[in-house]
Amino acid sequence: MTTSAEPLLSIRDLTMAFPGKRARSAPVRAVDGISFDVAAGETLGLVGESGCGKSTTGRLIVRLIEPTTGSITYAGRDISHLSQRTLKPLRKDLQMVFQDPHSSLNPRQTVARIISDPLLVQGSSAAQARKRAVELMDLVGLIPEHIDRYPHEFSGGQAQRIGIARSLATSPRLVVADEPVSALDVSVQAQIVNLMERLQQELGLAYLFIAHDLSVVKRVCDRVAVMYLGRIVEIGDKERVYAAPAHPYTRALLSAVPLPDPAAERTRERITLLGDPPSPAAPPPGCTFHPRCPKAQPICRSEAPLLRITTPGEAQETACHFPEGA
Ligand code: SF4
Repeated sequence: MTTSAEPLLSIRDLTMAFPGKRARSAPVRAVDGISFDVAAGETLGLVGESGCGKSTTGRLIVRLIEPTTGSITYAGRDISHLSQRTLKPLRKDLQMVFQDPHSSLNPRQTVARIISDPLLVQGSSAAQARKRAVELMDLVGLIPEHIDRYPHEFSGGQAQRIGIARSLATSPRLVVADEPVSALDVSVQAQIVNLMERLQQELGLAYLFIAHDLSVVKRVCDRVAVMYLGRIVEIGDKERVYAAPAHPYTRALLSAVPLPDPAAERTRERITLLGDPPSPAAPPPGCTFHPRCPKAQPICRSEAPLLRITTPGEAQETACHFPEGA
């Protein structure tokens, strides 16, 4: 789906296949032909169960790994297969925040070194990088005087602020945030989400916000994409997708999100999915969701549905032969 603004990031037919576990087994398609855009300054939420390929998608976009096929276009330039050397100047624009703040920070480095590192890689002097690190500590709500401490001296929420400061060191335009609050206590989650929203407004950042918690995604995103077994099954404006999910998988995910009104929560319909997601090493034929889908028909077992607009005039696309509300 394209947005009205020229996209900052454009993904087309992207696939990532990893070698199978055994010598003769088929490759595992962790990401299986996905396409989407992210506009400058917007937040696209990428949601789905564990193992659906959303984190692999994030790692592809910042080119920590190289895609098997398809394209990643950033600011009009195809970066899909650029060498690490050619990518180096672009790395300042594309940064990542990781899920577990403590395990993503080097315990043997001071915060000054951790935040400065991306700047040193880009050629800043040690003095310039330290000055910038002090500014970033302040920007993310940390005490600049603590800059020579080590990660273990900070709480989980503070450590994630350090991770965010590191991601902002090179003034990126796009930040891929991979489950940035899921390892934190609920009260701390809200603080980090508030911080990310403030930073977006102040700095004009675009986020790809990867999460399995649809409540958090609803709060922070402009649009949302739902992934299942390496494919996008629904994508659209947040308000539309949350109010009128068209794909049975999206409907099931949303039916599990707690409602703030206790009376509504008691009477709401919950959709229980059968079983676990199939292994990406052996995806079912046709619609890969069909073994768990309450609406599956014979055609679903043989023909894979394409992502398409199901309600004219709505900014919402769905990959389903029998979408809700069509
Ligand atoms: Fe369910 Fe069929 Fe739609 Fe797949 S295509 S989600 S199996 S109804």
